[in-house]
Amino acid sequence: MSTNHPLLNMHTQEFVRFLRTEGIRRFHFVHDAGAKTMTASHPQLQPLADFILTDQRDFMEHEGAFFQVSNEHDTLQGAFVHRTRRGQAAGGVRYWQYETVEDYLRDGLRLAKGMTRKNALAGLWWGGGKGVMAHNPEVDKYDHDTREDIYREFGELMTAIRGCYVTAEDVGTHVTDMANVFARTRFTTCIPHGVGGSGNPSVPTARGVVAGMEAALAFLGEGTLEGKKVAVQGMGNVAAPLIRFLLEKKVARVVACDINPALVEPIHQSFPDELVEPRIVAPDDLSIFAEECDILSPCACGAVLNPETIPMIRARIVCGAANNQLEDGARDDLLLHEKGILYVPDFLTNRMGIVNCANEQDGSVNHDPMIERHLEREWKHSIHQAATRVLERSKESGDPPAVVAMALADELSMEKHPLTGHRGQQIIDSLVADCWYEEDN
Ligand code: NAD
Repeated sequence: MSTNHPLLNMHTQEFVRFLRTEGIRRFHFVHDAGAKTMTASHPQLQPLADFILTDQRDFMEHEGAFFQVSNEHDTLQGAFVHRTRRGQAAGGVRYWQYETVEDYLRDGLRLAKGMTRKNALAGLWWGGGKGVMAHNPEVDKYDHDTREDIYREFGELMTAIRGCYVTAEDVGTHVTDMANVFARTRFTTCIPHGVGGSGNPSVPTARGVVAGMEAALAFLGEGTLEGKKVAVQGMGNVAAPLIRFLLEKKVARVVACDINPALVEPIHQSFPDELVEPRIVAPDDLSIFAEECDILSPCACGAVLNPETIPMIRARIVCGAANNQLEDGARDDLLLHEKGILYVPDFLTNRMGIVNCANEQDGSVNHDPMIERHLEREWKHSIHQAATRVLERSKESGDPPAVVAMALADELSMEKHPLTGHRGQQIIDSLVADCWYEEDN
């Protein structure tokens, strides 16, 4: 199967029009690991299933992917289910714009397998998956009623696929959107506080980053955060509490930057100049990477570790909250490793977002031990222990830390849930047997 099949090159809205012409509203691609096949629900869509099956970059035996076009606002909505051996697939729903069907599918596949790894390494009894909605450029995505329609229909998709994937918040999605998802399905987390949800995960995420930094310092035999200098990119939801926690740990100095002046001023007002130096920067300003410091903490956006920035870095440790910090996973992990910079993989340190919401159905407890144990040193899957294990294995093997962390996560992701086994696969089998995609099913 050639990767330039016309369906792959279509803009997502052109694809939506194609589906409408074919009379298809819901469809799926389902993998049979034994037979090594990927089957589309509709023969017209089999070329896309063939593309996924033969893709070397983003496909990793994903169990299935389930889609619909929303009745209102013609939005392509999908649930990518990577691996459900540890539990139903869990991960947020991204609302983003895509140029082509190929970009859309690749993003879903990549993000879903990333969630398998993040959840497994965190010791969560959840598999990995991701929701992805392609923005229809003809609709106003900031309009309240439009969003309500789109997210309610996404909730209906969750109900239709019977919980093989349980959704949550992600880029482009807000807590109010999650309330709309929740109005149509029980298969969601990250619902608002007012209806029993877990609320904003940014503070626990910042604490997770601190735990990763402490593990890296201990691994290098460089003691604690006391007296260290930390450079932080970003001063948003995670970075602002992170700066506070670092000062509580008695760091000598924090240099932080943001492109948004409205965020910089409150930090400037809150802390003495000799402890925190907040800077307003232009979006293309890379000076934070060249800052002389002990730890560099990317807490703004992805792909910031690349051949341009890595040679500038003067820190011994890189540990931050931003997702997908390595522009090219294999290349940039190795570049950092060869330069002697200790990189604590982002999906290990920024797990607290999903940890905070994943088990909402278990109720909430003060100083919740199911959350706190991730931040303590004793538990075998804590950030401290997982980071230490990864860094030790990296030292022994000579492989860079992200490679080691992925291998460890892949190993853990093969363990079956102690109570429910590989139930996600059973749900998928039931969906296929019942032709879930037929209307009024
Ligand atoms: P946020 O949007 O509140 O903060 C990011 C900040 O980075 C913004 O203030 C933005 O102005 C700034 N920024 C963007 N480009 C910049 C640049 N070039 N230089 C300097 N600053 C820049 O987001 P957040 O919730 O704080 O999350 C930060 C990162 O951590 C994101 O990559 C997010 O995906 C990831 N993450 C967050 C959580 C969480 O709990 N919030 C959990 C896991 C991962």
